[in-house]
Amino acid sequence: MMKRGIVIGGGIAGVTAASALAKLGIEVALLEKEPEVGGHLRNWDRLFPSRRKSTEVLQFLTKQINSTISIHTNQKVVSIQEKHGHFVVETEKGLIVEGDSILLATGFELFDASKKEEYGYGIYENVITSVELERMFQDGKGILTQQGTIPKRIGFIHCVGSRDEKVGHLYCSKVCCVTGVKQAIEIKETIPEAEVFGFYMDLRMFDRYFEEMYFEAQQQWGINFIRGRLSECSENPDHSILVKVEDTLTSRPLRMTVDLLVLLVGFIPSAETNQLASMLEIPIGEDGFLEPVDEHTLTNSAQHPGVFLAGALKGPVCISETFADARATAVQMAAYLNPY
Ligand SMILES: Cc1cc2nc3c(=O)[nH]c(=O)nc-3n(C[C@H](O)[C@H](O)[C@H](O)COP(=O)(O)OP(=O)(O)OC[C@H]3O[C@@H](n4cnc5c(N)ncnc54)[C@H](O)[C@@H]3O)c2cc1C
Ligand code: SF4
Repeated sequence: MMKRGIVIGGGIAGVTAASALAKLGIEVALLEKEPEVGGHLRNWDRLFPSRRKSTEVLQFLTKQINSTISIHTNQKVVSIQEKHGHFVVETEKGLIVEGDSILLATGFELFDASKKEEYGYGIYENVITSVELERMFQDGKGILTQQGTIPKRIGFIHCVGSRDEKVGHLYCSKVCCVTGVKQAIEIKETIPEAEVFGFYMDLRMFDRYFEEMYFEAQQQWGINFIRGRLSECSENPDHSILVKVEDTLTSRPLRMTVDLLVLLVGFIPSAETNQLASMLEIPIGEDGFLEPVDEHTLTNSAQHPGVFLAGALKGPVCISETFADARATAVQMAAYLNPY
């Protein structure tokens, strides 16, 4: 009898794994809570490192979907039950889907910057997040302060909600350094006369062409990177932002006024995902992301027979890693469903 796989989550990981499974001859149902597939990719304008439009990757992703995958959008999965290797998934709207194996690909959430009260997000109008800056780039109406003026000085704060014991996230979110460098260049492309500053603890340019982009940011665009930690910020009467930073290279406090302050927010584990995982008794790591069977050798299998994991629910990842991870997971899941 034809075995059926269920994929929960229609981001890069879920769609890629579902299409790979379909190519391997597995009948697949994919459930996505939003009206459209794509996940967080939909919120980014241009992608690091090449600064290509995210829509190109989205098109590639949606082209992979063929008629053998049953896609159910607007269906948020709220319950998973298993009996003797048979899984029953239920959504908020009461849709029930059954299958022989499950792939969890429900991704990540973004850190809520208002939790760092001293940074003034949600209090001062000109403190925004990197996600809001992406939206401004997507809208194409220019980069403006809340007062409608063109910002002349822009500051980027790295590690907002990551590498921060106070908020309970010791891990590095991996993508925010390179996102900050990319966005700083994009600001200079849009407002060439602007002065742009990045305040960082370390710059983690871990992947191919990232270091080159950092070099370009300094050499070609004159972006200033200052090693320092933001202690607090306040609002001036003209709505510009006064930032107080400790320069950790010179050990001197630094005060600077910027017209726009961008907080580079990182990944946090999804509470919803962890609820689903607990229904299957899948362990959650100390960092809050899901634990696979083995951190080196079996990163795609969950500690529950027939359940597989792909993408950012296991921790911060970039797009190329997500595609590779999803394809690898599909192969493992197909081998579980149709063992030779
Ligand atoms: C600020 C920022 C900028 C980034 N920019 C880049 C970049 O330029 N280049 C790059 O390589 N990477 C970038 N990334 C990383 C990239 O976004 C991730 O690698 C990618 O989104 C991971 O895909 P995913 O499918 O694992 O997760 P997600 O994108 O989170 O997708 C998960 C999907 O599951 C769905 N879902 C969740 N719960 C349920 C449920 N209960 N039922 C049904 N559906 C559910 C969600 O709606 C979503 O569609 C960036 C990340 C951040 C934070
Ligand atoms: S990638 Fe950079 S900004 Fe993001 S948490 Fe790591 S060090 Fe901080």
